[in-house]
Amino acid sequence: MRIDLHTHSTASDGTDSPGEVMRAASAAGLQVVALTDHDTTSGWAEAVDALPAGLSLVRGMEMSCAGRGADGRPVAVHLLAYLFDPGNEAFARERERLRAERTARLRGMAEKMAADGLPIDPDAVLAAAGPAAGRPHLARALVAAGVVGSVNEAFADLLRTGGRYFVTKADTPLPDAVRMVAAAGGVSVLAHPRASVRGHLMDMNQIGELVAEGLGGVEVAHHDHGAADERYLRGLAADLNLVVTGSSDYHGGNKSVVLGEFITAPDQYERLIAAATGVEVVTG
Ligand code: AMP
Ligand code: ZN
Ligand code: FE
Ligand code: FE
Repeated sequence: MRIDLHTHSTASDGTDSPGEVMRAASAAGLQVVALTDHDTTSGWAEAVDALPAGLSLVRGMEMSCAGRGADGRPVAVHLLAYLFDPGNEAFARERERLRAERTARLRGMAEKMAADGLPIDPDAVLAAAGPAAGRPHLARALVAAGVVGSVNEAFADLLRTGGRYFVTKADTPLPDAVRMVAAAGGVSVLAHPRASVRGHLMDMNQIGELVAEGLGGVEVAHHDHGAADERYLRGLAADLNLVVTGSSDYHGGNKSVVLGEFITAPDQYERLIAAATGVEVVTG
């Protein structure tokens, strides 16, 4: 059984529509796929409608959170949330707030670039990005304008966290996020917690503290983790009795990783979905 629990569509910063992600997942030989757009559930309905026969969909989201950095300062952390009730009002309000933060932040970055003379039109970037605007949308605008040769090149310099054009946003404090997901009947998994290529890491001691709030698992197999990171996280998960997942974090043409490049073991998947009560897994 091939299970990929982390993908993005045009509902956030992927390049395939939710339906295209479902068809691509089936074509890639997956039996289970999760759709986990950033801070939105807006792709869920189209994904359910497009579900090919034999493919199971785990409805999810990747939530923008503020964790405690190894140096004690806040650090951006992503929390995967699965099978929660989208109608839970407190959680729905928080998603809306996060999307407003995304829009304001991306506008701020685009305006800084425009003020600096770069050929970027903030209104056009925001219009193309939609309600869950992310840096990959600005990266594509920079590529289209010929400022950089690739999305990767844009992230290496102009879009870099802490770089010249970087603007911060107010993400959900990580313990609050874990509690909100649990209160909505969902199960949460820390996304790529050792992805040091994205900037400095969260304090690993915070992971143990999050277990007390209801954290369900950690993403271990991921393209931003090395072998040592995976070993470290497997040990931590065993100590804390957390579910271990592996996923592609597919973004269509915005990243080079392919669907199913990293996968989750069936026993871990079963444990994960058994812990959720918000919505069901849907099978086509
Ligand atoms: P944001 O959500 O706006 O902070 O932007 C971060 C998003 O950009 C995440 O989804 C990352 O997966 C993606 N990202 C980070 N680095 C790169 C890169 N080098 N190439 C493509 N996407 C990236
Ligand atoms: Zn993304
Ligand atoms: Fe992420
Ligand atoms: Fe992601």
